[in-house]
Amino acid sequence: MRRGIFGGTFDPPHVGHVAAARAAVAALALDRVLFVPAGLPPQKHGHAPAEDRYRMTALAIAGEPTFEVSRIELDRPGPSYTVDTLRALAGADALFFICGADAIRDLTTWHEWEELPRLAHFVGVTRPGVDRPQVPYATYVPMDGVDVSSTEIRARVAAGLPIDGMVTPAVATYIHEHRLYLG
Ligand code: ATP
Repeated sequence: MRRGIFGGTFDPPHVGHVAAARAAVAALALDRVLFVPAGLPPQKHGHAPAEDRYRMTALAIAGEPTFEVSRIELDRPGPSYTVDTLRALAGADALFFICGADAIRDLTTWHEWEELPRLAHFVGVTRPGVDRPQVPYATYVPMDGVDVSSTEIRARVAAGLPIDGMVTPAVATYIHEHRLYLG
């Protein structure tokens, strides 16, 4: 099995995340993609609680039969280091860790980063406004840029602006019903 792993804060999950996972599936013939919301993001401050980010991720990928969401980083105490997640998932499957060009650029700041390319193939997707750093530990797959970020969505919600088209309708409803990101 060829398995994609897509780690992120997903605060909230948006259409750029789903597009990135679809691009990786198409380019690399992946059988499944596991979305892994960080329980305690080591380098970011989680705005919404981890359980809400997990539930929103499940809503964002509902109806995509090859996508699933994992609780692995919610159920493991301490900072959610990717190296620990990849070690836990190592087994018979070939693992492909999907990330945006910004994450590829910053990978050398991640905990035990030298181990990461030994545990999974690192797959980059382009992200508008970010160069594609050419690094020995990652390859890129083609993707039409989707210019959206969780930061922008949180700011729009706090300002009372619509977020249609940036997240799925189910995620938008969840954000509003749980009064997330109001600042
Ligand atoms: P924030 O704005 O809060 O920093 P984000 O939009 O970057 O969040 P994350 O959950 O931190 O979202 O991202 C998880 C992974 O998805 C990262 O590897 C990131 O590079 C990638 N990613 C996020 N948005 C896009 C996008 N629009 N296009 C391509 N990759 C993306």
